[in-house]
Amino acid sequence: MKQNDILHELFMEQAVEAGFGKFHLKIDPETQLFAIIAMHSTKLGPALGGCRFIQYDSIAHAFRDAMRLAQGMSYKSALANLPIGGGKCVIIEPKGEYDREALFASYAKFVDELGGNYITAVDAGTQLNDMDIVNKYTDYVTCTHAQGDASPSTAWGVMRGIEASLQAKYGSGDLSGKHIAIQGVGKVGFGLANLLSARGAKLTVADPNERSANILAESVGAKVVGLNEIVSVKCDVFSPCALGAIINSETINKIQAPIIAGAANNIFSTPEIGEEIYEKGILCAPDYVVNAGGLIYAAMYYLGSSHDEIRAKVDEIYNTLTQVFERSAKEKVAPEKIANEIAKERIG
Ligand code: NAD
Repeated sequence: MKQNDILHELFMEQAVEAGFGKFHLKIDPETQLFAIIAMHSTKLGPALGGCRFIQYDSIAHAFRDAMRLAQGMSYKSALANLPIGGGKCVIIEPKGEYDREALFASYAKFVDELGGNYITAVDAGTQLNDMDIVNKYTDYVTCTHAQGDASPSTAWGVMRGIEASLQAKYGSGDLSGKHIAIQGVGKVGFGLANLLSARGAKLTVADPNERSANILAESVGAKVVGLNEIVSVKCDVFSPCALGAIINSETINKIQAPIIAGAANNIFSTPEIGEEIYEKGILCAPDYVVNAGGLIYAAMYYLGSSHDEIRAKVDEIYNTLTQVFERSAKEKVAPEKIANEIAKERIG
C-alpha cells in the first residue's frame, strides 16, 4: 500500500473510533508555526483544551495526538458537567532556533480567527507565560498568570474523589485514620497531602524531589519511602500524582491498596491492565473524572464564575464518581468503561 493510502486508512480508523471531528491547520513560515487545532465536540459548548508544544517525529503523529487528546477533553468536560466541548491544539516545536514570543503571537491570531469556537490553555510544553502572550492578541484563552494556578483545584477534586472511593468501598468517606500513599508530591500531590492530613489521614509519600517529601515529613508527619516502594505500600488508597502508565505489567502485582485514586493521567499502560485491576477487585477511580478540578477551574474562570461556584462544581466530582461506581457495580463493568459510556451519552 502507498504511504498516502496508509495515512488515509489510519486517520479514518482513528476518526471513526474517536467520533471525529474538525481540524484547523495554520502554517506560518515566518515564525515557524505549525499548529493543528482539533475540535472533537462542540455539542455542550465551545471546545476547550490545552496547547501541546513538543517535537513530533511525523505530522501524522501530531494529528493523531491532537485527535486523541481532543476526544479526552470532550469526555472530561462531559463528565464534569461543564458547558464546554473538547478540543486540543498541537504545535510542532521547531527543531532549530525560533522566537517563542513571535510564534505564540502568531498562534494567538490563529485562535482568534476561530471566533471563540476553540479556547486554548496550557498543556505539555506550554506555560502560563505563553498564555500571557496569547492573551495579548485574543480573549479565547485561559490559564494565564492573571487567572492563577489550577492545581489547588485539582488537588481538592482528587480529595473528593478519594472520599467517594472510600464511601463506595467501605460505606464511609471519612478520611480520618485512613492511610494514603501518594506517588509524587508536586503541585497537585503536595496540596493533596495537606488536605488529607488536615482531615486526619495518615500519609506515605515518595518523590525524587526529596525536598517536597521532607517538608511533608516535617509538617504533617508523612512517612517518606523510595520511588520503587510507594506502589507496594500496604494502605487504604494508592494515589498516583506523578506519571502516566504507572500501573503496568511490572507494578500490577505489587499493589496492595484496595483503592486507586489520583491525579495522574492515563495510569494504565494498556487497557488490558485496567481490566486486570478491575478483575482483582481493586476500585480504581477513572483518572479523568478524579483530576477534572483543574479543567473545571480553567473553564469556569473563563466563563466568569465565582470561586464559590467553581468550588461547588469541583465538589460535584464526588457525586459523579458515586454514580459511576454504582453503575459499575450494577452492570459489572469497570468504572472507566462506565465513565466513557456516560460521556458518549452526554456528547451524543
Ligand atoms: P508536577 O510536575 O508539579 O508534580 C509531579 C511530581 O511527581 C514532581 O514532584 C516529580 O518530582 C514527581 N515524580 C516524578 N517521577 C516520580 C516517580 N517516579 N515517583 C514519584 N514521584 C515522581 O505535576 P502536577 O501538576 O502535580 O501533576 C501531577 C500529575 O497530575 C501529572 O500526571 C499531571 O498530568 C496530572 N494532572 C495535573 C493537573 C494539574 O492541575 N496540575 C490536572 C490534571 C492532571
